Amino acid sequence: MKCTLGGEWGKGKLQPFGNLEISPAAAVLNYGQGLFEGLKAYRTEDERILLFRPEENAMRLIAGADRMSMPSLPVDSFLHAVEQAVLANKRWIPPPGKGSLYIRPLLIGTGGVLGLNPAPEYTFVIYVSPVGCYFKGGLAPIDLQVESFYHRAGPGGTGGVKTIGNYAPVLKTQLKAKGKGYSDVLYLDAVENKYVEEVSSCNIFMVKDNVISTPELKGTILPGITRKSIVELAGSCGYEVFERPVDVEELLAADEVFCTGTAVVVNPVGSITYESRRIKYNGGEVGEVAKELYEALTNIQMGRAEDKMGWIVELN
Ligand code: PMP
Repeated sequence: MKCTLGGEWGKGKLQPFGNLEISPAAAVLNYGQGLFEGLKAYRTEDERILLFRPEENAMRLIAGADRMSMPSLPVDSFLHAVEQAVLANKRWIPPPGKGSLYIRPLLIGTGGVLGLNPAPEYTFVIYVSPVGCYFKGGLAPIDLQVESFYHRAGPGGTGGVKTIGNYAPVLKTQLKAKGKGYSDVLYLDAVENKYVEEVSSCNIFMVKDNVISTPELKGTILPGITRKSIVELAGSCGYEVFERPVDVEELLAADEVFCTGTAVVVNPVGSITYESRRIKYNGGEVGEVAKELYEALTNIQMGRAEDKMGWIVELN
């Protein structure tokens, strides 16, 4: 779908996966005027196709479009395009328990500009791919390294929106950590360098004495849809949940730590390395709270439990 600045979105069309034709002067290539989203479609035992809270992705994209001076996209157009893309690729949705269809919507400034200005034209496109588990070994504890030199985002920056430019800087630290055998990197705040923010592509939670805490949203971390769902779900499971500043020392002293995201779902953290200290959680086993919340969430996402929260959109 295309839209000119200040104009209306045109009609979308389905086409086979292929390259986009784009001007070398496109704002997305020169100034990073681009946003993306990520969500999943699951196939159930009785052959229903389920999406998890897709309107949340639409609203996050709209908030990002405002931050990046890009045209908004109506929620209905977003949902319709996602539905069409999934239904046209139904055969690629893995059987229950074998994965999901990952859906990647992109909103990019494809119009050419020489000076620093919003693009005169925008493209909204979706591609999909079947996926298995994000981390090798499925629900297996991962090892994180705290990064205390590089930061993912600063106050007033773009950490709170899913803009493409947030991700390339993460590659350097992620590759360095992976090279040392860690699964991923945990970032600290850019002001005091001591409050926990998030992992490269997921949010983080800690459990202490059965109370759950996660860093609050203050514009420097992505408002994860899984994060929001886990806060709500944990509350409905009887846990006390706090969204508040989390000092890295508190995290190291936690009983349990886990990450959340569309790709990772709920993933226990087995160890955190901070400078010269390596803290192990649960003796390398999957923590009880992470396990309970993983099951509660995936049962809803995969249509095995009643959708009491009204989170599921079923496609026919
Ligand atoms: N933080 C970052 C930086 C991410 O890229 C993601 C993945 N979208 C998340 C957190 C988790 O967000 P969600 O639960 O919406 O996938």
